[in-house]
Amino acid sequence: MLTKTLNPICTDEAPPVRLSASDRIRYRLIGADCRYHANDNISAFIEEGELEELKAEVQSRMQEVLQALVIDTDSDHNTNDTAMRVAKMFIHEVFKGRYVPMPAVTEFPNASRLNQLMIVGPIKVRSACSHHLCPIMGRVWIGVLPNEHSNLIGLSKYARICDWIMSRPQIQEEAVTMLADELQQRVKPDGLAIVIEADHFCMHWRGVKDDESMMTNSVMRGAFLKEPALRREFLSLLSKKAG
Ligand SMILES: [Zn+2]
Repeated sequence: MLTKTLNPICTDEAPPVRLSASDRIRYRLIGADCRYHANDNISAFIEEGELEELKAEVQSRMQEVLQALVIDTDSDHNTNDTAMRVAKMFIHEVFKGRYVPMPAVTEFPNASRLNQLMIVGPIKVRSACSHHLCPIMGRVWIGVLPNEHSNLIGLSKYARICDWIMSRPQIQEEAVTMLADELQQRVKPDGLAIVIEADHFCMHWRGVKDDESMMTNSVMRGAFLKEPALRREFLSLLSKKAG
């Protein structure tokens, strides 16, 4: 009788190719049917240690960009470490809102039943446009009309949530809606109003080189939509603050 022995460990096979961190993360996102546009937060799909891997990957690709731009990064001392600096800036600073979970926000019940218009701002906005990755600098004002069931959050938390949303490549109109959704869900107010006014550096640095253009967007929800007096009060207080 002929017996055939199968060796379960096949030694002459090449080890499996290890996917890059970005491929692994993308694989999980696609598997979960989860959108990963420039202004989406994908932190739930990133495992421990992968952010550092991502940074190294961005650095090596950025080095290729510099090479493609025919910049001699070896002898040009100014650009020796540019790829490394840009990768760090993207992952840990200007686009960090894509890669880290939302900052912890403690919500308090509205024990004293505050129901007066509350305005937070101006909060400094630092973002980048999705089209050119150029900076966007501006200010945000948030108006909240709480009810007795609303959750209140500390004033500084508005700024932290705003920074988390803005630290991604953004489109101003989408950013303001994202911020409104996040606050609506957390605070559950009767009314929510957000105004953003920002300066788009892609207008100064390139293109039309127009130095005067500021873009303003607003989102009004709940009571701010239904009550013109409330909306007027918010806008008038805001213009006094802006002055
Ligand atoms: Zn742009």
